[in-house]
Amino acid sequence: MAKISINLATGSLQQEELIVGIDLGTTNSLVAFINPEKQPQAINDTGKGLLVPSVVHFNEHGDAVVGNEAKAFLTTDPANTIFSVKRLLGRSYQDVADHQDLLSYKIIDDNTDALVKIRAANRFYTPVELSAEILKELKHRAEHALKTPVNRAVITVPAYFNDSQRQATRDAGKLAGLDVLRIVNEPTAASLAYGIGLNPQEQKTIAVYDLGGGTFDVSLLSIQNGIFEVLATNGDTFLGGDDFDRAIVDYWIEKNDLDRSVLQEDQVQMQTLRLQAELAKKALSTQNLYNEKAGDIWYSIDRQTFESLISENLERTLNSCRLALSDAGLTAADIDEVILVGGSTRTPYVKRKVEELFGRKPQDHINPDEVVALGAAIQADVLAGNRSDILLLDVTPLSLGIETMGGLMDVIISRNAKIPTKAGRQYTTSVDGQVNMKIAVFQGERDLVQENRKLAEFELKGIPAMPAGLPKIDINFILNADGILTVQAIELRSGVKQEIEVKPSYGLTDDVVEKMLIDSVTHAKEDVQQRMVIEARGEGEQLAYTAERFLEKNSQFLNEEEIEHTRLLIAQLRQSLQTADKDTILKHTDALNEYTRPFAERVMDIAISSAMKGKKIDE
Ligand code: ADP
Ligand code: MG
Repeated sequence: MAKISINLATGSLQQEELIVGIDLGTTNSLVAFINPEKQPQAINDTGKGLLVPSVVHFNEHGDAVVGNEAKAFLTTDPANTIFSVKRLLGRSYQDVADHQDLLSYKIIDDNTDALVKIRAANRFYTPVELSAEILKELKHRAEHALKTPVNRAVITVPAYFNDSQRQATRDAGKLAGLDVLRIVNEPTAASLAYGIGLNPQEQKTIAVYDLGGGTFDVSLLSIQNGIFEVLATNGDTFLGGDDFDRAIVDYWIEKNDLDRSVLQEDQVQMQTLRLQAELAKKALSTQNLYNEKAGDIWYSIDRQTFESLISENLERTLNSCRLALSDAGLTAADIDEVILVGGSTRTPYVKRKVEELFGRKPQDHINPDEVVALGAAIQADVLAGNRSDILLLDVTPLSLGIETMGGLMDVIISRNAKIPTKAGRQYTTSVDGQVNMKIAVFQGERDLVQENRKLAEFELKGIPAMPAGLPKIDINFILNADGILTVQAIELRSGVKQEIEVKPSYGLTDDVVEKMLIDSVTHAKEDVQQRMVIEARGEGEQLAYTAERFLEKNSQFLNEEEIEHTRLLIAQLRQSLQTADKDTILKHTDALNEYTRPFAERVMDIAISSAMKGKKIDE
């Protein structure tokens, strides 16, 4: 298959275009490329530094700034300053409900399994849009520094990211105007940066210990024939360098007898203290004592004290490592190589502890906050076919997936996946008592199936009649080494099963593939936008339906005015569903949701108390 790239500026095809590697981090993001000396190098846009803090700020007009500039608004305008958006990517509200209090901005409280949305400056943003802002900034910086258009990228994600989190990362790339050639696991990228996995003869088991700003994860990988397999992952999505900073702040509050309640009121002063603590922490990575005067107070801490402050947190990361080892059925002695990733592994105490646990000196000579992006750049170079020493395994030229709600393409095996491969996902019914389900298989990169190539369609019959949402239907795609795709559908409760075989490459010439790829890139933005409208409509529709059923059943618990107002909100929502404006739809969905939530609680309370009354209590 020919390697195709498109110059978005001219619309023409280019043979040799740069592909960048991007580390889209929770705290910091960065972009790297392979320089003319054939070495991976992080891109430093003049004077702006290598790391771009993953922070987005919106002003009242909805204009975004990203990075250090946005970070400055964390204290002055926290409600419109979004950080740690990676934690929300591809997650539903229910996934993140427990953590809302840790974030200063507003997450829309759907209380459903719909995807999270964020409200800032009176608009609604999906984590995909917010991540796209960060990616756009990285793209701009790369273009500015390298003086060439950058349209293609490899983006990394944590090894534990699920399907929907990976899809969301791809979408963010599309929205930023990037053709995402592959999503690569962060630990895999880090290994590549150390040259591990590049030699097809090599067989190794490695541990990647990644301690960032707000997250920790450890991954155990096995490498064979140039293929990385994740054996186990473990970690904590709320543990990282930020906790170390906080520990120092607490220590200084104690030591200097500062008034905690005053500080809590004064966000600006608190933030200043936090920044000071981060400086101290970083200094203690290379020196034994930090001692600085700010105002008329001396802020000092020595390395030993710092180590005792963080030892408990560090012990938790080591426990994660132990659990990962035991999940993979391995002991520390089975690990051939330990790699350190993440800015927080610069702390010498972290290095020492990791070395102690694995009984070997970890690899740490590559900058730990660049290593993932550097590895992504190497992967990009491999995909570009620039490395004759590495054989490129067979890959699928176009994504394969099925049609879901509203005519959307749900990708199951993505483009550029190595074959043979297998992937699957679970679906359910949308209508009560539904006994058949149509499964339409498509190929292509567009978000709407009508723009893609239809490969097959069949019906799964004999699903037992159940309320909507209860059946569990597994759809599996198995693509063998000869490029034959088997699509399997199984309803898990009843065991009814149906399968079909197709040859996706049948009738597919390089020209067709080329045209499909070009179309997908030229329409990427509108596609993602259209998809967000369809998804918003789906949710709005669902809520309007639920609210109507609720009124039918429970109107005796509501007064006239409440019933009237609910009806009005439903009507407004239904009307907004006719528009193609995602923000309008979300605004009305949110309004109905906020207004009716107390009713559901009221009905529940009444139901519980009448159940109690009805119960006879034995003496
Ligand atoms: P993420 O992958 O989560 O985006 P990074 O890998 O960029 O995060 O790590 C950021 C964290 O690394 C921050 O908490 C920062 O304070 C910490 N860090 C950066 N440099 C040092 C250093 N020299 N010593 C200790 N910690 C550091
Ligand atoms: Mg990272």
